[in-house]
Parts: sequence; C-alpha cells; structure tokens
Amino acid sequence: VEPAVLRQLGQETLEAIARFTASVPTRGVWKDLEPGELAQQFETSAPEEPRDYGQILQKLEAQVFPGALSWQHPKFMAYYPSSTSVPAILAETVIASIGSVGLQWKSNPIGTELEVVVMDWVAKFLGIGPAFHHSSQVGGGIIQNTAGESMLNIMICARVRAHRRANPELSREEAFYQDSSKMVAYLSDQAHFSAEKACRLAGLRVRKVAARLEGNYTLNPSDVKAAMEKDRAAGLQPTALILTYGSTNTSGCDDVKAFKDLAEDDLWIHVDAAYAGAAWSLDQFRQDAQAVSEVVTSVNMNGSKWFLCGFDSAFLWVRDRKLLLDVFSASGVFMADVEDMSIYNPEFKDWSVPLGRRFRALRIWMVFEYFGTSGLKSYIRQAVDQASWLRSKIEESEHFEQPVQTVFGLVCLRSVHGDEVTRQLAAHLAAQGYGLAPTKIADRDALRVALGATSTTQADVEKLWSDMCEFAEAGSNKRQK
Ligand code: PLP
Repeated sequence: VEPAVLRQLGQETLEAIARFTASVPTRGVWKDLEPGELAQQFETSAPEEPRDYGQILQKLEAQVFPGALSWQHPKFMAYYPSSTSVPAILAETVIASIGSVGLQWKSNPIGTELEVVVMDWVAKFLGIGPAFHHSSQVGGGIIQNTAGESMLNIMICARVRAHRRANPELSREEAFYQDSSKMVAYLSDQAHFSAEKACRLAGLRVRKVAARLEGNYTLNPSDVKAAMEKDRAAGLQPTALILTYGSTNTSGCDDVKAFKDLAEDDLWIHVDAAYAGAAWSLDQFRQDAQAVSEVVTSVNMNGSKWFLCGFDSAFLWVRDRKLLLDVFSASGVFMADVEDMSIYNPEFKDWSVPLGRRFRALRIWMVFEYFGTSGLKSYIRQAVDQASWLRSKIEESEHFEQPVQTVFGLVCLRSVHGDEVTRQLAAHLAAQGYGLAPTKIADRDALRVALGATSTTQADVEKLWSDMCEFAEAGSNKRQK
C-alpha cells in the first residue's frame, strides 16, 4: 500500500461516498429493478488489465450505488433499522488499512483486547449483568457475524452440554458423537426463522410453541412446560429454550423472568434480542436486561440494527465461557497456544467457528467514542418516541387500528375497513416513496412501520401520518358517494 496513492484515491473515494450519502434522500427506497438487470451491466469475466481508478469510481456511482437499497433513507421503515454512522463507515477503512487477521491474540493483540473491552462496554451500556462481562473471568462476550450464527453456535453448545451432563464420564470428543435425536429445543412460533434454523443445524428437534396474543404474541410459560411434559412422556429430552426479546414481526417480548424455574432445571435458556436489545440502554426497559441477566445462559443482540454500528456487529454473551471452549477450542502445531490466559487473552478462535476474525471491535469502539453513551441513547430514544407518537395517533383514529400492542420503534397497523383497504394503503404509501413492509398478523394484512433510520425525523413521521390520513379521507369520500 503506497501512502501517497492511498491518500489521493482515498480522498476521491470519500468524495464519492459523500456525494452518495447526500443523494440518499432523493433516491427512492425500493428499486424498480428486475433480478439480473444490475449484473448485466458488468462484464462476465474480470478485466485482464488494471483499470484507471477514476473509471472505477465512475462505475461505482453509475452501476453500484443505484442498485443499493436505501436503508439510510428517511422513508425507510421496512424490515428493521440498519443504522450506520460516520464512525462506523470510517472504521471499516481503518480496519482494512490495518489488514491484520485475528487468528489469535498474538496475530493481532489489539484486535483481541479491544473486543474484550468493547464487549464489556456494550454489556454495561445495556445493563447485561457482570456475570456476562469478561472482567468476571467466567462469562464474556464475542462479536459474531449474525444473530443466526450466534444462535447456531449456542445450540451446538447446548447439545454438547446436555450430553456431558447426562454422562460426566464422556470425553470431550465423544460428547459430539452421541445420539441427539431425542433432544428438543423449544421456541415460540414468533421466533425468527434463524432461531429455528440454528436448532436444526445443531441437531436438535424443534418444538414450536404457539405464542398467545395477550397484548403481543408471547410465550406463556405453562404452554412451554406442558409441551415439555408431553415430550418427556414420549421419551424426549428438553434441552434448550430460545426466548425472543423483540420479535421481528410484532416486537413481542417473552417474559424471561417467568422462565427462571426452567433455567434452574438445567435447561439452556438463550435470549434472542437481535433487534430490541438496544432498548435496554433506556431506563424504561432496563429491568428487562436485569431479568435476562438473572435467568439466561446466553444472549445475543445486533449492533448492526438499531445501534449505529453498521453490519456486521452481532454481539453474543455467555454466562460461562467454558461452555464455548468445550465445543470450539482447537489448535494446530503452527500456532503456539498461549499459556497465560489473562482476561485480555481469551483466544476467540476457541469461542466460535472461525479462526481468522475481522477487527470488528474497532468499529464498535469508534462508534462509542464518537457518540458517547449519551449520543447512542438519544438515537435509540428517538425511534421509541417517534413510534409512540404514531401509536397515539392511531389510537385516536377512526380509520386505523393496531392489531397488536407493539413496543420500541415498531408500529403495526391496518385499516379498520379490512384487508383489501390495508393492501391499498400499502400500495398508496409505496407510491409515495415509503419503504414499508406489508406483513400478516393473525392471517390478516398489516403494515409494519419500523422506525430507527438515523435520517428519519419527527417531521417525517408526521408526514407519514398525514399521508395515511389523506388516504383514509379519500376512501371515506368514495364510500359516501
Ligand atoms: N432474530 C431477530 C429477532 C431478528 O429480528 C433478526 C433479523 O431480523 C434475526 C434474528 C436474524 O438476524 P441476522 O441477520 O443477524 O442473523
């Protein structure tokens, strides 16, 4: 890497990024594209000769940016927020410039040590208890690629732990090869499909328990216990339970505390808080993090969703790091294992599948340094406030209703005039440039408004509401004619 070249091309690239960022509000959220349309603009084989960088930047602006969905658009309210930020963007370049790979502490000492530091920072920020901090020297956290991967790793550990507990004489290796066909993982029918996938891939049977509406589709402990009893009677072995804090469709939160007795019963309880864990940073949700800390074996949340850290930043904490080490530790003669296992040297290669690891912690560190915990909290609070404003408007309205009582930055709504009108509303708002995600709630059409894009202001939410009202008034006039 030649510093002079980097400096010059870097400046040009930053200019292109700044132009793109400035243009986001004028670009539509959804792209009017057919699959394959974008790929056709590229040659079918890589260029043999190097290209001029100016040409590459031109292609970036002409062929790449236009094909990217505008997650940072003020009218982006689909899926869940995927907020990036200036420090998160710049940190990616710094990470690439360092260019080292975290195989083990020795291969990038700061990569490991900063991950230890930031995982404790984030845990403290969210109110995840000291047992899960690296400083406890028992628990700790690691950054993974995605929530789905975190859950897969955890479910493998749950399976192996269950075998080792059933037969303490088993060697570490033998524990992997035991018959797991009777082991069952329980989760809500509202859990994210990646939770189900994780259980299956880990070799566990999946028992989906129907969530009850009672406000917002959550698991009732007696339903879970009844399912377990039934399974036990059939010779099966309840092994793990995945609870959801902030379900993707409706933001439902399973009452973690209500499952405490099951945790005491040796079941591995994991909480998937991929989206909503960010809310624990706010006083009004803090007690939920406390409940999680008291009950669970492991918990994950995504820094890439509602947390300004950008993708990928999937945080995973465990109460006992030995549970991970028992499954993932492995080494080769070409890497000297470290004898001094200080808290700053947890050897993350022994905590999950990959050996080589990106220096993701740098991005998290830069985001926290840049915004401070106060800045992060006000960003998170903004979506909560915008969503409660919108909910209050819907409550007063004769045209719209909420099929469930959502929380955080999510609002679910539908027309009181039935599914057809809800679908028309979705089409109307899409035509107005909103990136909203139509969904089904209890088999009825609904719209999810997922707030949290950094550029979405209160004025944008008020405009959305007035656009909805305009649609409703037009409908009323038509019905009266
Ligand atoms: N869990 C929940 C509650 C989610 O909302 C999502 C994504 O929407 C996931 C898991 C999957 O996240 P990832 O893409 O990081 O695997």
